[in-house]
Amino acid sequence: MSSVPIFDFSPASGALLFLRGGGACAQLIERQDWSATPLGPIDQWPQCLTSALSLVLRSRLPMVLMWGQGGVMLYNDAYSNFAGSRHPESLGSYVRESWPEVAAFNDTVIKAVLSGETPNYHDQEMTLLRNGAPEQVWMDLDYSAVCDAEGNPAGVICILSETTERVAAQRRSAFLLALSDDLRSLRTPAEITSLAAARIGELLDASRVFYAEITSTGMMTVERDYARSVGSIAGVHSLASFGPDLLAAYRNGAPVVVYDIPADERLSAAARDGLSAREVGAFIDVVLFEEEQWVGLLAVQNATPRVWNEAEQMLVQEVAERVKAAIERARAERDRLWDLSQDMLARADFAGMMSAVNPAWTRVLGWSENDLLTRGYASLMHPEDRPGSLDVIGQMALSREPVRFENRIAAHDGGWKTIEWIVAPEPDGINFVAVGRDLTDAKAREAELETAQEALRQSQKMEAIGQLTGGIAHDFNNMLTGIIGSLDLIQRNIAAGRLDRVDRYIDAGNASAQRAAALTARLLAFGRRQSLDLRVTDINTLVCGMSDLLERTLGEQTALETHFKADLWPASTDTNQLESALLNLCINARDAMPDGGKLIIETDNIHLDERYTRAYPDLQPGEYVVLSVSDTGIGMSPSIVEKVFEPFFTTKPVGQGTGLGLSMIYGFTRQSGGHVRIYSELGLGTTVKLFVPRAHGETETVQRGSPEYPMGLGETVMVVEDDPSVRLIITEVLKDLQYNALELPDAAAAIPLLQSDERIDLLVTDVGLPGMNGRQLAEIARETRPGLNVLFITGYAPNATTRSGFLDEGMGMLTKPFAADTLATKVREMLIRETSV
Ligand code: ADP
Ligand code: MG
Repeated sequence: MSSVPIFDFSPASGALLFLRGGGACAQLIERQDWSATPLGPIDQWPQCLTSALSLVLRSRLPMVLMWGQGGVMLYNDAYSNFAGSRHPESLGSYVRESWPEVAAFNDTVIKAVLSGETPNYHDQEMTLLRNGAPEQVWMDLDYSAVCDAEGNPAGVICILSETTERVAAQRRSAFLLALSDDLRSLRTPAEITSLAAARIGELLDASRVFYAEITSTGMMTVERDYARSVGSIAGVHSLASFGPDLLAAYRNGAPVVVYDIPADERLSAAARDGLSAREVGAFIDVVLFEEEQWVGLLAVQNATPRVWNEAEQMLVQEVAERVKAAIERARAERDRLWDLSQDMLARADFAGMMSAVNPAWTRVLGWSENDLLTRGYASLMHPEDRPGSLDVIGQMALSREPVRFENRIAAHDGGWKTIEWIVAPEPDGINFVAVGRDLTDAKAREAELETAQEALRQSQKMEAIGQLTGGIAHDFNNMLTGIIGSLDLIQRNIAAGRLDRVDRYIDAGNASAQRAAALTARLLAFGRRQSLDLRVTDINTLVCGMSDLLERTLGEQTALETHFKADLWPASTDTNQLESALLNLCINARDAMPDGGKLIIETDNIHLDERYTRAYPDLQPGEYVVLSVSDTGIGMSPSIVEKVFEPFFTTKPVGQGTGLGLSMIYGFTRQSGGHVRIYSELGLGTTVKLFVPRAHGETETVQRGSPEYPMGLGETVMVVEDDPSVRLIITEVLKDLQYNALELPDAAAAIPLLQSDERIDLLVTDVGLPGMNGRQLAEIARETRPGLNVLFITGYAPNATTRSGFLDEGMGMLTKPFAADTLATKVREMLIRETSV
């Protein structure tokens, strides 16, 4: 073998020529006594071992030979550098013992190679203890066998190259790239610093990482920190506690790196104690400057002493720079927002002053920035709003939760602006930020809208009244024309002695007068001024009794369906009015179904609870009987439904609709303590529901007027009425019906007769008499004639909403105007009642 000139080395024995040119490791091998090892004395080493070793020793690549099953290690100088403090003890030792931290790995590899495999690894990660501390390394490893003379594997040769630096650099740049990407999307310094802290903490396996803001007053604010298995130190700290040496080091600008805090002389005793108390054993601090001003500190800490390698230190430095850049970008964006915002933004303190306001303040209020920053914010608040607003701010100081409120703020021109505020406390417990939105315009628009709506309501009301009076005047004119015309004709005919046609004119005049009477009745019903005769009524029976009439009204094209609720509650209602309401509903339904359809009348019991009745001021919660009428007709649009209860509202051609049907129903149901609802959909149909209050008591059967006048049986009826013509008509009708009638103008005249022995079977009296009224007269009459039945006659009873309160047992009521048959029926009814008593 030829010598290698770079090594000035000659073996002691000429026999060990294979070691020649093998460097420092060759010398060590030569000097070692191998006779006691599994390899045996060196001069007896097999040819295969010496050739392989010679190759290893002369290579400049780190190479190691692991001989035999035990893996006795023989390596070259390049490897000895790699092995660090393990060398030279490891030379000639068993590999599994020398590198216990990777024993399992080596064991697998040696077995694999000795059984014929040639494994290799690229960037294999390992943690090695080469210099006392664990170290993460990456390596390319290439293994092959050294075979003996028989061709059997006798040892393993390994060529290795450490790639730690390259891999670490790649990882670092990948980490930084990802970090930069992720920081870009963050908006606030707090988000930026906490993300960076967590990332670097995980990468370096640090126990605590934080970014601190340094204020000009020498305080360090840690808003949040990344802390693993140690406590958080979020809060405000004084820089003075670091001690002058450390502060000087920070101000110097270079990263401050400490491996072992208790042992580091650069730190003052107080600083060391302080750091140990916070579970810091080692740290890297990178300081950040903004134009000479120290503004921030990125701290990476380990709970126990730790050697930070150069790569780690560089990484922290680079992260710190990226964090600083990201914060600056976020601040710039915030500043842009600050300047451009339409909303008023401010930073203020709980003591009452503002420390920053954005330009929107001046735009909205007219005050200069200086005005705003030099006077307390409370002085800007409207005196009425001040206590409330300061209260809310005070509460926020305690709760540390953002709050929202509204108040009026003084403008420079002397006016007030309504501002909606959102305020949120800052972590320092001293300041808060406020965002204010000017609501003045919105409020003004609201007020305008309110005025416009009020005007609209007013005009709608006027329109309704106009329609009402116009309608009444129109209808009455028609009717009066009929009456006046007829009277005129009668007069002229009588004057001319032509009596044959008088009857016809009387009929015509009568018909007009009847229509006028019906109209006033409806108007009174709408005005809820009619007097109702409330009785306990079975509505099922009432509907049944009308079905013939309804079927005739509806005609053949429309089917009538009834769904009666079994066990329907008795209802309290005026049967005549309810019948007329039902008839009206059916006529409306028929009109809505010109081509026929289906009409359904349903009854039901229902309980209306407070939640339902709340929306209707006059409606009481409780039990109601529902009578609903549904059709499959044309339906109504919502705007029509809104109007149908207005008197004279009709969509029907002149002569067909009066527009009084539903308004009368509305007035009647409301007056009787009930309620009416309409559900309608265009093209599908309409349902009208009448809610009639439930009655408690026995159902009464009402005698209905029959077409023939029920005749009298010679009974004596006393008639007290101040209007001579009405009195005349009543007595004439009674005499016609074969009653004996006593005519008296007032109570004063009637009382002596009532107190006499004169036969009197029934008292018929006007309610509104001059002097003593009819009701009082009835009282006096009953003093001497306790069982006497009384029939009152009235125009309307303004004070008596319903007759039931006014009428005692054996009393009845008849409303003017009335027809002769009604009087006949009513008088008969009253007399029958008496005989049955
Ligand atoms: P009139 O029947 O004289 O028009 P109403 O007060 O009874 O007066 O009804 C007012 C208006 O309500 C009707 O003109 C009609 O437009 C509408 N209306 C009432 N009932 C129905 C119904 N069942 N289907 C469709 N529209 C109806
Ligand atoms: Mg109608």
